[in-house]
Amino acid sequence: MTQPLTIALSKGRILDDTLPLLAAADIHPAEDIKKSRKLIFDTNHEHIKLVVIRATDVPTYVDYGAADLGVSGKDVLMEYNSANLCEPLDLNIATCRLMTAALKGYELPDGRLKVATKFVNVAKQYFAEQGRQVDIIKLYGGMELAPIMGLADLIVDIVDTGNTLKANGLEARDLIAPISSRLVASRAALKVKHAQIQPIIDALSGAVERQKQTALAD
Ligand code: AMP
Repeated sequence: MTQPLTIALSKGRILDDTLPLLAAADIHPAEDIKKSRKLIFDTNHEHIKLVVIRATDVPTYVDYGAADLGVSGKDVLMEYNSANLCEPLDLNIATCRLMTAALKGYELPDGRLKVATKFVNVAKQYFAEQGRQVDIIKLYGGMELAPIMGLADLIVDIVDTGNTLKANGLEARDLIAPISSRLVASRAALKVKHAQIQPIIDALSGAVERQKQTALAD
């Protein structure tokens, strides 16, 4: 018997890149996700449902088994940091970089650094590896403001074009990690629902490869 299977999708810019990949893997929501206020959607496959949630909540749903698969940014997965989760596929979408940034030309002090970020765990680990003493200040958005207002020496944030940093008089400094969205599963779900999950991984993997070839040809 085919077991039901739920895929948790990240809202926002990742969703825009995820839907064409799902379509290329022949998974079509029964209605237009972007025009609906619903959070759960049937698909053309009777046993597959999609849920659309905040990007930071996707690893939690998958970790606790409420969703079988998820689509999540590597930044979010690094911050969530659970040994229970695995990434069977790099979807190669929503690519960007996780970086440190500071006011343009600002010379960092020698002693303890104040670092503002929403990626508290990632920042702690990164600066520990660098052997730098830091005070991490948790913010929920608008990180670029922190150095301007004297709240922080550095920020740790996502950089895509760099326009947001530039518009606020900041510059990117060090690369912490290149980021893309990943297909995420719990180790338990991969075992128990292997027969349902593997064909989806294979179909998405084919879609990712085709998208790469098209990008190369452009
Ligand atoms: P940009 O001005 O193009 O460098 O974009 C930077 C801002 O856009 C960051 O502050 C992020 O919040 C957001 N952003 C850009 N790309 C992504 C992504 N792939 N995933 C999550 N947030 C992103």
